[in-house]
Parts: sequence; structure tokens; C-alpha cells
Amino acid sequence: MSKVFVITGPSGVGKGTLIRELCKRIPDLELSISATTRQPREGEADGVDYHFLSAGEFDRRVEEKDFLEFATYSGNRYGTLRSEVERRLDAGHSVLLEIEVQGAQQVRQAKPDSIQIFIAPPDPAVLRERLAGRGTDSAEAIDRRLETAEIELASQGDFDYRVVNDDLADAVEELAGIVRTELGLVGD
Ligand code: ADP
Ligand code: 5GP
Repeated sequence: MSKVFVITGPSGVGKGTLIRELCKRIPDLELSISATTRQPREGEADGVDYHFLSAGEFDRRVEEKDFLEFATYSGNRYGTLRSEVERRLDAGHSVLLEIEVQGAQQVRQAKPDSIQIFIAPPDPAVLRERLAGRGTDSAEAIDRRLETAEIELASQGDFDYRVVNDDLADAVEELAGIVRTELGLVGD
């Protein structure tokens, strides 16, 4: 049966890195491409990493009720388009949403069967190191993301699963194990 998986966690914890590995291991799992009003980072492409929308276009799509969920994060808007999720489910695929905590809460209400996974750091201090190491955000943007991280970390208890991303290979294994179990693929 096709399922919706929600992966949340503070910025810099390694969600993107883990998800890339997860999708290689479980090809039936498809990542929903979110919409955002944030500017593309170097190397990001429209329709691949995000659907990059103007604020006006984002508002229009909110009015049209095109979003399954949406939220404001660090001064920009992000949302999951219903079409991204439904067309994958209709094609028999399971769908992965990589979203922040307010969005995860909305998906929990809209889709109570969704499986909610929180990715936690071994220590909050590694978030700054990882964000600085990634080199995509200004010092101010990093500070802002770390302020939000405190609120996000406080909500980990609302999730079905919690995976600590300390050693990357171990975290990928644990995450893949959860997804395989939920999809009934254990033993594959
Ligand atoms: P997120 O998508 O949660 O913001 P990323 O996947 O972009 O995080 O990871 C942030 C940075 O941390 C990247 O430079 C990535 O290579 C690095 N990283 C991810 N997982 C680990 C890990 N287990 N140990 C050390 N560095 C990691
Ligand atoms: P980034 O700017 O680093 O790509 O993403 C910032 C935050 O927005 C991350 O926590 C990411 O999970 C979240 N995010 C990405 N897409 C969506 C979405 O569609 N909805 C919500 N609510 N959050 C999202």
C-alpha cells in the first residue's frame, strides 16, 4: 500500500543528505517537490529542488487551495502542493515530504495515516557546524535557523519515530529500516 512519510528536523541536521541516500535504497519512495518563495541557492533548479514561486503566485495558490500544507519559515514561505502528493499516490508510489514542524502538524491532521519521523542531532551544537560547513547560508541566516531549531527540537515528542543523525551510515540504515518496516518490505 502507498504511504505518506513526513521527515522533519532542524536545519542542518542532515535531512537532505539522509533522504538522498534513502531514495537510492528504496526506489519506490518518491520525494515531493515543495513550493517556496525563498531564492534558489547556487546549483538549485526550478522544478527539481523546489518550485520557486513569487510571493504573489504563492498567495494565489493558497487561495486556490492548492496546498496540502504551508508555513512560513525563516522569513520565507514553503508549501506542499496537493498535486505533488496525489499524482504519486495515484501511480502507486509512496511519497516522502521533507518539511518543517508546522507543516508536519498540518499533514498529521489532513492525513492521520502519514508516518512522521523526526531527525535529531546528537547535540544541538553540531547544527551550527553543519550549517557553516554546508556554506549555503549567511551568518545571519544561520542564526535565524538556529533560533527556530530550538522550537523544532521541543516538538520531537509529537513524532512517531526519532532518528539521531550522528554517524551518517548508521542513521541511513535506521531510517531505511523504519521505512521498509512501514511498507512491509522487511526481509527484502
Ligand atoms: P538539512 O537538509 O537538514 O538542512 P543537509 O542534508 O543539507 O541538512 O546537511 C547539512 C550539512 O551537514 C551538509 O554539509 C552535510 O554534508 C552534513 N552532514 C549531514 N549528515 C551528517 C553527519 N551524519 N555527520 C556529519 N555531517 C553531516
Ligand atoms: P531550506 O530553505 O533549507 O531548503 O528549507 C527550510 C525548511 O523548510 C526546512 O526545515 C525544510 O524541511 C522546510 N520545508 C521545505 N519544503 C517545505 C514544505 O513544502 N512545507 C513546509 N512546511 N516546510 C518545508
